[in-house]
Amino acid sequence: MPLAARRLPTEFASLDPLEAWTRTRTSPRPERLEAGVETLPGVGPKLRAQLGKLGLRTLRDLLEYRPRDYQRAVGETRIADLFGDGEVVIAGDVLGASLRPTRRRTTVLRAAVADESGTITAVWFNQPWLADKLRPGTRVRLRGQLRRGDFAVKSFDLEGGAATADLAPIYPASEHVSVARLRDLVAQALPLARDLGDGLPAALKARSRLAQRADALLALHRPGAPEEAEEGRRRLAFDELLVLQLGLLRLGREREGASAPALPAPGELAARYRAGLPFRLTTDQERVMGEIDTDLARPVPMQRLLQGDVGSGKTVVALYALLRAVEAGRRGALMAPTETLAEQHFLTLEERCRELGVSCALLTGSATRAQRLEAERASIVVGTHALIQESVELSDLAVAVVDEQHRFGVEQRRALAARHSPHVLHMTATPIPRTLALTVYGDLQVSEITLLPASRKPIVTAWVTPERSGEAYRRLRRHLDDGRQAYVVCPLIEESETTLARAAEAEAERLRLGELRDYRVGLLHGRLRPQDRRELMGRFKAGAIDVLVATTVIEVGVDVPNATIMIVQEADRFGLAQLHQLRGRVGRGAEQSYCLLVSRGRDELTDAARERLEALVRTTDGFELAEADLELRGEGQLLGTRQAGLSELRFTRLRADRELLEGARAAAASLLDHEGPLLDEVERLFGGREVGA
Ligand code: ADP
Ligand code: MG
Repeated sequence: MPLAARRLPTEFASLDPLEAWTRTRTSPRPERLEAGVETLPGVGPKLRAQLGKLGLRTLRDLLEYRPRDYQRAVGETRIADLFGDGEVVIAGDVLGASLRPTRRRTTVLRAAVADESGTITAVWFNQPWLADKLRPGTRVRLRGQLRRGDFAVKSFDLEGGAATADLAPIYPASEHVSVARLRDLVAQALPLARDLGDGLPAALKARSRLAQRADALLALHRPGAPEEAEEGRRRLAFDELLVLQLGLLRLGREREGASAPALPAPGELAARYRAGLPFRLTTDQERVMGEIDTDLARPVPMQRLLQGDVGSGKTVVALYALLRAVEAGRRGALMAPTETLAEQHFLTLEERCRELGVSCALLTGSATRAQRLEAERASIVVGTHALIQESVELSDLAVAVVDEQHRFGVEQRRALAARHSPHVLHMTATPIPRTLALTVYGDLQVSEITLLPASRKPIVTAWVTPERSGEAYRRLRRHLDDGRQAYVVCPLIEESETTLARAAEAEAERLRLGELRDYRVGLLHGRLRPQDRRELMGRFKAGAIDVLVATTVIEVGVDVPNATIMIVQEADRFGLAQLHQLRGRVGRGAEQSYCLLVSRGRDELTDAARERLEALVRTTDGFELAEADLELRGEGQLLGTRQAGLSELRFTRLRADRELLEGARAAAASLLDHEGPLLDEVERLFGGREVGA
């Protein structure tokens, strides 16, 4: 946007320089919050390290530490009335305390506590740091139970703290740092809540019904009622979403400023490609192609995310985008996250390209000089992201397709945009709910393919126990006897690629001698040399191999419509998204396909594993599974830690916070237009961290 077009957005209009200054004055010392946790009494090097493992390094980290839950208070009991072994709360004053080591190198802290009805000895185990605090006259509230005439303390508050409050926060603790300890530390940081300042203009807060930031922090740690905790959470979620959206919008705008070749309308090659497809495009595919045509006609780089379930026909659309570059006399590139995936894409594209008379080359790390030269001249080049960026002069690259977007974070997207400015189509076969997409890919336009090709029959999925795996293999052999092909996925072992390869080799050998004795078995794993892998995939595609025994390297990209059945061994070890990806390797043709998940019996599985398998049996809809995954794993975990940005969302509940997200996005846009000191202040207060870094 040209500078002159920037105007003061209305929600910031109330903010005159004087008010801004006053607000700065009311947040006098935010730097106090950047002090390390070791500045608190009782925190030595050891505890400091243990807190570090929980991500707690500064006082600010403590202030922003989100309770995972709250514990409801129980009414206070008079000391004279203590009886039985239920958990109760007592309140009183400390008369005196003593600390004693025990023989087993633990400590016992005992304190006499009195209320108006009587006195009792309260006992703490292994909390020697408390001794100094239990001075005579200290007011305490203790939650615990009677044990041999003493009161064994489970949680406590000194001088009106949090633990026995109406809703006591339960912090994510660790083996070394207890919830009680965390409560104490947070309580010490809490008085500094106001030092951070607020950062948001009053008008904006009013419009989005947001609390003051300091109040939000207080409500988070000391809620009087669940609604208060929720109010606090909302405000903190808004702040983190605002920072994330600022980063994403900035990225988007950086690109808006870049220029890309505006391509003429679709021509003869595009028409020939469409006409040559052996099927009718779905309406979703048609619509997305139209969206791409519109983007390509603009002199600004396309930045579009194409979301669609496995087998929904994204690659067909991607090739269309690449061919649009070629017919304009320029080049296209398809970038995959790994060489294996690049090779698999290449096998698919090459065939179509040959029919169309378009040169298509694969660029791998092991490419010879001649192959490299060929790749540099080809109209369409397929390779890993890194290889294409590093080794090819891409001045005439007009369209880049980036596969498996979820493996690239904001930074990678920025790098791609910075070095060249081709039109970019990001493709992901891990569809995520729209709200989430807006959060993580807020700098992109989102296209979706939700309809599967009409000829497609949903894959039948069954869950079988190991005792019945003999039946599963019998069924698989029936498919082979009918001229179909199959996959067997090896158990996932959390070790190196090499161990994984060795285990896969052993498994393939076992099957060759046993269940699959009479069939042609191929083995695919990540340790195969690229040319061997390529040759193997080529033979499987050509039908010269009946069964592909594979590690998860077949997860994405393999496209053999004649493969109609898959057995996944020890399926409970895989993640939901991963199993869904694996399953997508079958059901790509018109034949009814099957996916058989072998795992231990229900009773032996964790709840999460059981729910994953149940979800897969229940539905083949990737969007629905993404929601289920979200439920099971929580927001931050959905895409793993690779997904920078998303993993930093601590307060946001993506399913519930849609409106909040949209508010944050609008506010971020206003702030960017307005820029200046307000933006700096917002970033200083909430961010400090670069988004996606
Ligand atoms: P994705 O990349 O989304 O996994 P692909 O583009 O690889 O999906 O398509 C999966 C399979 O479905 C391929 O074999 C492809 O040829 C076929 N296919 C794609 N679009 C259609 C369609 N409209 N009708 C029938 N089959 C299709
Ligand atoms: Mg594909």
